[in-house]
Amino acid sequence: MLKKLFNPFRLSRLRKGPKQPTVLDAHEHRLSCADFSRNSANVAVRLQHAGFQAYLVGGCVRDALLGVTPKDFDVATSATPEEVRHEFRNSRIIGRRFKLAHVQFGREIIEVATFRSGHSQDDEGTDSDLSSHNASGRILRDNVYGSMEDDAQRRDFTMNALYFDVSNEKIYDYANGFTDIKNRLIRLIGDPEQRYLEDPVRMLRAIRFAAKLDFTLEPSTAEPIHRLAHLLHDIPAARLYEEVLKLFLSGHALRTYELLCEYNLFAPLFPGTAKALLKQPAYVDRLLRNAFKNTDKRISSERTVTPAFLFAALLWPALTVRAVSLQHDGMHPLPAMQEAANQVFLEQIHRVAVPKRFSIPTREIWDMQERLPRRAGKRADTLLAHPRFRAGYDFLLLRESSGEDTQGLGNWWSEYQDASDSQRREMISNLSSKSGAPRKRRRSKPRTSKPTHMDPGQP
Ligand code: ATP
Ligand code: MG
Repeated sequence: MLKKLFNPFRLSRLRKGPKQPTVLDAHEHRLSCADFSRNSANVAVRLQHAGFQAYLVGGCVRDALLGVTPKDFDVATSATPEEVRHEFRNSRIIGRRFKLAHVQFGREIIEVATFRSGHSQDDEGTDSDLSSHNASGRILRDNVYGSMEDDAQRRDFTMNALYFDVSNEKIYDYANGFTDIKNRLIRLIGDPEQRYLEDPVRMLRAIRFAAKLDFTLEPSTAEPIHRLAHLLHDIPAARLYEEVLKLFLSGHALRTYELLCEYNLFAPLFPGTAKALLKQPAYVDRLLRNAFKNTDKRISSERTVTPAFLFAALLWPALTVRAVSLQHDGMHPLPAMQEAANQVFLEQIHRVAVPKRFSIPTREIWDMQERLPRRAGKRADTLLAHPRFRAGYDFLLLRESSGEDTQGLGNWWSEYQDASDSQRREMISNLSSKSGAPRKRRRSKPRTSKPTHMDPGQP
C-alpha cells in the first residue's frame, strides 16, 4: 500500500519541502460528484480503493466551476499506466511522448494520467526513454513520474491544476487556480518563457481557453507570446492539426481567430493565408470571419461541421492568390486551380498535417467552385446530384457573403434547387439564350486574364 502511494518509478529531484495545497471544502467551491460523469468518478473511486491516489483534474474541474459542461473528464493518479491497465480490463495504454491509460465505457473514454514531475534537463540522467528535451528546451518525452504536488507544478495553467477528490468532495489547489478562475485569468504556472519553450503549444492552448471561457491572459503570460510565436514551426504538423481542430471546432472559432491574429500565431499555422491577408486584408478577413461565424453558429445549434469545409475556407485565400498568379503566367484556369491546390497543400502539410480524408473533400469543394458556373445542358442536374454539391454551394454563398462577385450565381443555384422540373428547364434555356447556346469553341491562345469566379478581386 505504501509502495503504491509513493510511486516507486522515479522520484523527482529533491525539493526544499513539499508545498501544501489550499484545500477548498464543498461549501466554498459548490461542486459535488454529480458535476462529473459517473464513469470518471467511478474510475477515481476504484483506484482509491486499490490503494492509489486518484483525483478528477484539469479541464473538467475548471469547467464545472464555471458552470460549463466539461468536454471530457481526466483523472490524475499515483498509479502507473501499467497499474491502471491492470485495474481496468476495459483500458489500454496509449502515447509515447506522454504515456497514459484510456479507460473505455461505451463511447466515453476516461483519460487516466500518472502524476508527473516537471523535471528540468539537468534531471534527465541517462534514461532518455523516460524523458528528453531538444536543444531549445522543448519537452520531447515526459514520462518521469512524481508526486501530486509535482504533477500540479508541471501542468500548464493555474486554472488547470485543481484536483477534485470524489471521496470527500474537496478541491486541492496548488497554484492559486481557484482565485484565477474567479478573476477570469489565464496564468501559466512558473516562468512563462520557460514554460512556452518547453512546449510552444501552450501558446495555442492559452488562446483557445481565452476564447472558450472569455478569460484574459494575465500580462506576464501574454507578454512572451509575440516573441515566441515562431517556435510553433518546430512542432510536429500532426500535433498542430489536432490543436487546430480544437481551436476552430470548439464553438468559438471567430474569437479564436481574432486572438491568434492579435498574438501573431495565425501566420505560423497558415502561412499562405497570412500572406493573402496582407495582400487583400478586407476580403480575406471577411471571408475567414464569415466562415468562423457560420461554424460557430452550426456548433451552437448542434449541426455537424466538417473539417473539410473549414480547411476549404482557411486555405481558399492562399489558393486564389496562387491560381491567379499561375494564370498570369499563362496557365488555363482549370489546371491553374489544380496546380495551386497542389502547391497550397504541399506547403500546408508541413505546418498542419491535414489528413487525406479531409484534404480530398476540401479539394472537391474547391473543384465545385469551378464547376458551379457551368450549368448548360444537363450539367446543372449532374452537379445537383453530386455528393459534394451541398458543401460546394454553401462555399459559394460564403464567398459571395465576403464580397466576391460571382454574378448572382448563388441566387441562381438557390432558385434552381427550389424550382419545379419545368422551371428548371426554363432556367437552363434562359441561361443559354443569355450567353448563346452551349458552344464548343476552342480558344486559339491560352487565356491569361483572370476569370471572375476565381478571383475575388477588390470587393
Ligand atoms: P479541454 O479538455 O476542455 O480542451 P483541458 O484543460 O482538459 O481542456 P486537455 O488537453 O484535456 O485540456 O488536458 C488535460 C489537462 O492536462 C489540462 O487541464 C492540463 O492540466 C494538462 N495539460 C494538457 N496539455 C498540457 C500541456 N501542453 N502542458 C502542460 N499541461 C498540459
Ligand atoms: Mg480535458
